Amino acid sequence: MDKRQFLKTSGAFAAMALLPRLTSAEQKVMPTHTTPRTNWSGNLTYHTTNLFEPASVADLQQVVRDHPSLRPLGTRHSFNPIADSTQAQVSLKNLTQIKLDESAKTVTVGAGVRYGDVAPVIDAKGFALHNLASLPHISVPGAIATGTHGSGIHNRNLSSSVAAIEFVSADGTLHTLSRAHDGDTFNGAVVNLGLLGPMTSVTLDVEPTFQIAQTIYTDIPFAELEHHFDDIFGAGYSVSIFTDWQQGRGTELWLKRKVAPGQTLDTPELFYNAKLATKNLHPIPALDAVNCTPQMGVPGPWYERLPHFRMNFTPSSGEELQTEYFVPREHGYEAIRAVETLRDRITPHLLTTELRTIAADQLWMSMAHQQDSLAIHFTWKRQWPEVQKILPLIEARLQPFHPRPHWAKLFTLPPAQLRAAYPKLDDFKQLAQQYDPTGKFRNDFTTTNLYV
Ligand SMILES: Cc1cc2nc3c(=O)[nH]c(=O)nc-3n(C[C@H](O)[C@H](O)[C@H](O)COP(=O)(O)OP(=O)(O)OC[C@H]3O[C@@H](n4cnc5c(N)ncnc54)[C@H](O)[C@@H]3O)c2cc1C
Repeated sequence: MDKRQFLKTSGAFAAMALLPRLTSAEQKVMPTHTTPRTNWSGNLTYHTTNLFEPASVADLQQVVRDHPSLRPLGTRHSFNPIADSTQAQVSLKNLTQIKLDESAKTVTVGAGVRYGDVAPVIDAKGFALHNLASLPHISVPGAIATGTHGSGIHNRNLSSSVAAIEFVSADGTLHTLSRAHDGDTFNGAVVNLGLLGPMTSVTLDVEPTFQIAQTIYTDIPFAELEHHFDDIFGAGYSVSIFTDWQQGRGTELWLKRKVAPGQTLDTPELFYNAKLATKNLHPIPALDAVNCTPQMGVPGPWYERLPHFRMNFTPSSGEELQTEYFVPREHGYEAIRAVETLRDRITPHLLTTELRTIAADQLWMSMAHQQDSLAIHFTWKRQWPEVQKILPLIEARLQPFHPRPHWAKLFTLPPAQLRAAYPKLDDFKQLAQQYDPTGKFRNDFTTTNLYV
């Protein structure tokens, strides 16, 4: 039995043994887990063993009232301790309702719903979400709380499609904030890093369903990006370039294009001097493409093409670390070339780098706040001592472009520099204070990076 299987199985036993229950004497909701747990990658063991999994919003409100310090937890896909707590964590995995409102063109999902759960349900009714991340396994609230994104010059991040959130503040009160009624406050509330309180449901915009065909090219010269950056990243609905930073080229370019029923897309053998792939590929060239969504230009539903990885398989490599920096898209080419100077330090510890574009938004704590962005992502081997030494070098090379690290991934940027990258940070802290006056939902990560 491998470690991941063991963790899954032992977690299931623990869950069966300690089902959530109310003790009639105290009316306290008891934790469902009290043994050590890790994040998805296994690079981090949470400091608290206390995990609450309330079965209802009322139980959640009770958990929040009962605890002076508490952190919401999603599907555990973050690589840094943003979801960690020394006291208690609360997972809303039991809130799984999905309610489509066809006339309002929205879907409201319980906080336990993952993108891969909601996508086929709305697709069956003729609707789609505007974009998805590289994997469908992440919870909707965990993704939107951290500004999780896909790719596409015209696509904003996943948080930008949020129309309303419902959450429980520190005193146990249930609140709703919506784009329709709460103006700029709403822009502050969506990418909330878990600091307003556990979200119980999220309402997302939907649009008519669409089909995507995924075509892969290999060996795209970086030199082509110098004069054709927007043409290349804008050539499809969603475009990703993968690289190992060697030989001045991207190893793979994933072109995800919208395709109308019956339409045949033009697929030349050469695309900006990159070559059309002749078989399915994994973003990490050494791995089998069996875990990946269908390629070779075969059209399919948006939710089976926009993520790189299939729902029922392990995404990416598993034994990995991730880092990502957002820089202004207008400086994207220079930023790539700046990181490339570190190639011989980076490549030995790298599984792959992914380059994606994200359209600007108005969300206060979004990495793409008021800035069309290029995101430079690193999937590292799980070699933290070495990676930890490389990150400051990358951050120094990117400093002229004022990088914003992904909230859920590993970085070493000094907090002062991080804070300087967010012009609305003070407004956000005031907003969080309004719903959480005592800092109940803060943890070491948020305190260090936002408050100290
Ligand atoms: C293989 C892999 C691929 C990835 N690909 C991408 C990608 O393509 N694009 C990208 O941008 N990111 C990507 N990520 C990062 C991922 O999207 C983020 O880590 C995201 O936060 C994961 O959501 P989660 O539910 O696992 O959150 P967790 O890691 O459980 O929590 C993250 C944050 O969300 C908060 N949170 C969780 N649930 C709630 C709630 N109900 N209410 C309030 N706050 C809550 C937590 O407090 C914490 O601050 C990837 C991660 C992995 C492991």
